[in-house]
Amino acid sequence: MLKILTIVGARPQFVKAAALSRALKKFEMEEVLVHTGQHFDENMAEIFFREMEIPRPKYNLGINSLSHGAMTGRMLEETEKVLLTEKPSAVVVFGDTNSTIAGALAASKLHIPVAHVEAGLRSFNMHMPEEINRILTDRISDFLFCPTETAVKNLHREGFGNFKCKIENVGDVMYDVAQFYSRISAEKSSLIKELGLKNKPFVLATLHRQENTDDLGRLSAIIEALNELSRDFQIVLPLHPRTRNILEREKIRLDFQPISPVGYFDMIELLKYCSFVISDSGGVQKEAFFFEKHCLVTRDETEWTELVDLNYNFMVGASKERILQQAYEVSTSNSSYREKPYGEGDAAEKIASYLKKNLV
Ligand code: UDP
Repeated sequence: MLKILTIVGARPQFVKAAALSRALKKFEMEEVLVHTGQHFDENMAEIFFREMEIPRPKYNLGINSLSHGAMTGRMLEETEKVLLTEKPSAVVVFGDTNSTIAGALAASKLHIPVAHVEAGLRSFNMHMPEEINRILTDRISDFLFCPTETAVKNLHREGFGNFKCKIENVGDVMYDVAQFYSRISAEKSSLIKELGLKNKPFVLATLHRQENTDDLGRLSAIIEALNELSRDFQIVLPLHPRTRNILEREKIRLDFQPISPVGYFDMIELLKYCSFVISDSGGVQKEAFFFEKHCLVTRDETEWTELVDLNYNFMVGASKERILQQAYEVSTSNSSYREKPYGEGDAAEKIASYLKKNLV
């Protein structure tokens, strides 16, 4: 039986791992899950494992709250030990975090095949730690599972066609997850009722990216825009603990009551019922589209350019004026959602089936 070692460390990776775990089981492969511990809030991590029925991690490395270099270094060291013990047939890493690059690097030095899920994405901003992680992980991976055609093109533009690696456009595992759990989320979540949001328009916002939270100018501008919008719209902001700490420390005031971070079922229900989304999250940008909602992206660039090209999502940076202007525009727009840039919701199965055929 093939043994696949999956490495997760942060919230978006728990979501993606949920899709892959089911597919690996279906294709009769053994999965060993390693949680690097990068996500520092254990309660936030726990809810995902429980709700989404992700297998319990066999290893929890507990590495967090360190500088990028120290975190990546420690993860590299600890992951290597796990790999030497487990001797998996392949290692799967997701996305663009320190856990991703550390896992890929440890495996490639031991000549264990590396599969990168969400390969080929680029923001073209080398100041983002995520961009560095993506590019380096792609370069040392054997199987590059791209979520979109744009990602495949990015890789070819960078010469990946000349390297000894396989590039496959399988679609986006987050689409699989959103489809799967949206069938059961209404049963599992009572948040809409608890917050009194039934038949009440509201805006869903998230804010946690380092480029926004660690830049007080950007953070204040986004909060000012949300405060101003809260006079006309109810704002539901599941506040990330890091953002909450910074707002408290800097005494930046919210004119509305944020909520605690929510589990995935609650998040899906919020996405289903909101009027539109304001977010700097990579995942939420797409989930807005999956649930046919516009998203104002509070960043200067995005890896999910298709949605901007199709006029579903709008890049508003951290400009209060742009956020406000675009918010009022999308609040009255009625778009039809026909395109399917993220595949058919079977990305994880394609990955599992590909690995099964191509690993020895
Ligand atoms: N998410 C969630 N609860 C929250 C905020 C986000 O379940 O309170 C989900 C979100 O729907 C998405 C994933 O977490 O599936 C994305 O994670 P995040 O925004 O932390 O990271 P990013 O996608 O920017 O890397």
